[in-house]
Amino acid sequence: MSSDIPEASDVADAADEVDAADAISDEPEANDSAVEEAAKHIPSGGTSPLRVDGLVKRFGGVTAVDGASFEVEQGSLTGLIGPNGAGKSTTFNCITGVHEPTAGSVYFKGEDVTGLEPYQMARKGLVRTFQIARELEEMTVLENLMLAPKGQIGESAIRAVTPGLRGEVIEQEEETRERAWETLDFFEIDHLATEHAGNLSGGQRKLLEMARALMTDPEVVLLDEPLAGVNPTLEEKLLDRIHQLREDGYTFLLVEHDMDVIMNNCEHVIVMHQGSVLAEGTGDEIRNNEQVIEAYLGEDI
Ligand code: ADP
Ligand code: MG
Repeated sequence: MSSDIPEASDVADAADEVDAADAISDEPEANDSAVEEAAKHIPSGGTSPLRVDGLVKRFGGVTAVDGASFEVEQGSLTGLIGPNGAGKSTTFNCITGVHEPTAGSVYFKGEDVTGLEPYQMARKGLVRTFQIARELEEMTVLENLMLAPKGQIGESAIRAVTPGLRGEVIEQEEETRERAWETLDFFEIDHLATEHAGNLSGGQRKLLEMARALMTDPEVVLLDEPLAGVNPTLEEKLLDRIHQLREDGYTFLLVEHDMDVIMNNCEHVIVMHQGSVLAEGTGDEIRNNEQVIEAYLGEDI
C-alpha cells in the first residue's frame, strides 16, 4: 500500500508546526494556562491534517458539542476521551459529514470542509469507521471491500455502458479487487473473503470495518471505539495494524473507553467534557490533571 504514504513535505510541515508550538511554550514569562490558551489559537498554517475550531452541534434543546477546538498532528495516533455523553461521537460525526455542525469549522489540510457529505470527505482522504450496515451483512467480506472505495468509475451505470469507457471500468475493478485482497491479507481475514459479513464474530467485524475504511485510501482515519467487544488476541492485532499504518504515514484519531489502551498507544490525548475540550496532553499529563479527574468523578483513568 505504498501509494497511501502521504507526501514527505506534509510531514515536514507538520514538524514545523510542532516547533512553533514548542517555541511558544518555552516563553519564560507566560503562565501555564495562558500558554495553553495561546497554543489553542496557533494558526495551523494549513498543514494540519485535521483541525476543528469552535465546533457546536445542537439537537433540539440538547447541545452535544459545545465549542470544541483541537488539532490532530500529521502521522499521530491521537486519543479522544471523555465521560459518556461528552460529545465524542457527535464530534466524529460532524467532522466526517454525518451531521452538519450547528456552528464552527472543520479543516482538512487547511481547507475548510465544514458540512461536506461523508463521501466527499472520504474522497478528500478523511474517513471514519462505520458498523457494517444490514444490507452489507448479506454480502461477502470481499464484496464489502469492493464496494468501499471512492471515485470508482464503475459506480456510475451510465459511464459503465459508454463505449470506450468499459475497458477502463474493467481495469479499475481489477485494481480494486487486487487492493481488496491486499487489504484482507493485511488484516489477516483473507480466509474469510467468501464468508457473509453477517456471519463474522464481533472482533472480525471490527477488522472488516477498518479494512473497509482503508479501501477508500484515506490519510486520516477516525476510529470510534474500534475495540469494543473485541477479544484480547484480536485487540492486539488491531492495535498492531494501527501502529503499522501509522508508520506508513496514516493519521489516527481514536475514541476508546479503555484508558490503558489510550495511555499505552496514544502520544497525545484530548479530553472532552460537556461538549468541549477540557484538557490536552500526554497520557501522564492527562492522568494527573485535576480537572480531568474531577470530570470522570472518580472513575479510574
Ligand atoms: P459520547 O460519544 O462522548 O458518549 P455523544 O456524542 O454520543 O457522546 O453524545 C453527546 C450528547 O448528545 C449526549 O447527551 C447525547 O444524548 C446527545 N446526542 C447525541 N446524538 C444525538 C441525537 N442524534 N439526537 C439527540 N441527542 C443526541
Ligand atoms: Mg460515543
